[in-house]
Amino acid sequence: MTEISKRDPAVVIIGSGAAGGTVAHELVTRGIKVVLLEAGREIGPAEFIQDDMAAFGQLTWMDKRRATGNWLAATSSPAMPLWTVKAVGGSTLHWNGLAYRMQAHEFEPRTRYGQVAGTSLADWPITLEDLLPFYERAEDKLGVTGTHGIPRHPANNNYRVLWNAAKRAGYGSISNGNLAINSEPRDGRAGCIQMGFCNQGCKIGAKWSTQASEIPKAIATGRLDLRTGCMAVRIEHDASGRASAVVYRDGNGVLQSQVARVVCVAGNAVETARVLLLSDSGKFPSGLGNGWGHVGRHYTHHVGGGTFGVMPKPVNMHRGISVPGSLFDEARHDETRGFVGGYLIQAMSVAPSFLASLLDAEDWGERNADFMEKYDHLAGLLICGEDMPRADNRVTLDREELDALGLRIPCIHVDVHENDRRMEAHGRLTTQVLMDAVGAVDVRQVRTALATHNMGTARMSRRPEDGVVDSFGRVHEMPNLFVSDGSVFPSSSAENPTLTIVALALRQADSIAERLGRGDL
Ligand SMILES: Cc1cc2nc3c(=O)[nH]c(=O)nc-3n(C[C@H](O)[C@H](O)[C@H](O)COP(=O)(O)OP(=O)(O)OC[C@H]3O[C@@H](n4cnc5c(N)ncnc54)[C@H](O)[C@@H]3O)c2cc1C
Ligand code: SF4
Repeated sequence: MTEISKRDPAVVIIGSGAAGGTVAHELVTRGIKVVLLEAGREIGPAEFIQDDMAAFGQLTWMDKRRATGNWLAATSSPAMPLWTVKAVGGSTLHWNGLAYRMQAHEFEPRTRYGQVAGTSLADWPITLEDLLPFYERAEDKLGVTGTHGIPRHPANNNYRVLWNAAKRAGYGSISNGNLAINSEPRDGRAGCIQMGFCNQGCKIGAKWSTQASEIPKAIATGRLDLRTGCMAVRIEHDASGRASAVVYRDGNGVLQSQVARVVCVAGNAVETARVLLLSDSGKFPSGLGNGWGHVGRHYTHHVGGGTFGVMPKPVNMHRGISVPGSLFDEARHDETRGFVGGYLIQAMSVAPSFLASLLDAEDWGERNADFMEKYDHLAGLLICGEDMPRADNRVTLDREELDALGLRIPCIHVDVHENDRRMEAHGRLTTQVLMDAVGAVDVRQVRTALATHNMGTARMSRRPEDGVVDSFGRVHEMPNLFVSDGSVFPSSSAENPTLTIVALALRQADSIAERLGRGDL
């Protein structure tokens, strides 16, 4: 592994997940030296555990957080409202690989949806057209099925239930993909063998993750210094307001400082906002990039919810890819349904222990036991929809509580908007209709508390007063500080976020490389 001197001004990236791993790889392939700080350790395929609860314990970011507001997490899991990963590769170890482009109208929600009271909806400073070349590159990089001539996966039973239900209920737009999971060997990674442990870390690397792909490739260039177990605690700046160093605690708990030419923050939306807020100084008293008070605000995490039904015949939903495909008909913007924005419906399987934890506690006893006994007959559906950004749905630093490193823990406040409630109710009706269409006899609607898609705590804006970063993720107030992850999303869209995160990361890396080449950074 390359070792870069702590006094050598490098590009320093915080976080090795979808965003940080991608930016790092892109920069080192252009000859730029990168120090990649990752709070977690390296967990390789040999260590992945094919047991959902044990894998959850192994990979998940467990450091304490606090949830407040009227969202489900505040009551059902207030100390751990998010499901993200602390390890090399970040949440791409856990993710399901669904990789969709956003729709054109979702880049201009304020214009298309109008002024929705109680929201902070804003248009993106870029359009779908601006992002198209980067979506193309991202799909190629991730090996997304259904793009670039990459074949789709064979349909598993859970997907067939969704497909049949959709056809019988009169829906038409459905597909088994697009998935960042190799359907055949590609780019040095194996083809999927349908083991069904996608959430637990794919042992054969068929599922794209930065751990399996970008990071080993970046290390091979000899220009990446990956430092694991290293938690960035603040970003320092010089008198002119340029980011100058990143201070971090290394694996032995010792404070270290890496001199920086450029800093990219890619800690996943909550930790990214936390690092910016923790870096307050005399010049930037409310944190970096926070001159207009937007850091931490406009947090979104998608409208969610699951439905499981007992089918007339065995489905064995656990066999094959965990989330094998989606129904798109409800993803459109159509206010006649009583809400703005749209949602996807996705076939989804979960392991028995996780399912048991989702079932209504009041039904424990014969009712739930009977349902669990029919696990082999169950099919599952998941909703993923656009939730409304609100200025007060935000990440702040807890006033009193500190984590094991002595850092103020992040507090995530969410009050659910009426539009989100209406969308969720519509989604529940739709999934019930789908289940009925294929003869499900016992249908359970469940609510998932843990936020897996985190967006919007450092949103991009054309004018500095409306956000934190520009369309390249560059902090308006600091020329060499970038935010690289989903924090920059002004709105959440109906689609799973990671393909867009990677596309934006590619666009950002091009811009950083070009500016460095011009001597502009
Ligand atoms: C179960 C599950 C299923 C999912 N399925 C899908 C899906 O099918 N499709 C989809 O689009 N998305 C999915 N997602 C979401 C997807 O994983 C994320 O959108 C994506 O990984 C976010 O990328 P990121 O780089 O912002 O953050 P991450 O990938 O989470 O990476 C952030 C990294 O930063 C590190 N870090 C944080 N703070 C610090 C610090 N201060 N110092 C050093 N390191 C730090 C963390 O340890 C972590 O490794 C899923 C997520 C989960 C949990
Ligand atoms: S189903 Fe495919 S992607 Fe998922 S864990 Fe198995 S081999 Fe990996």
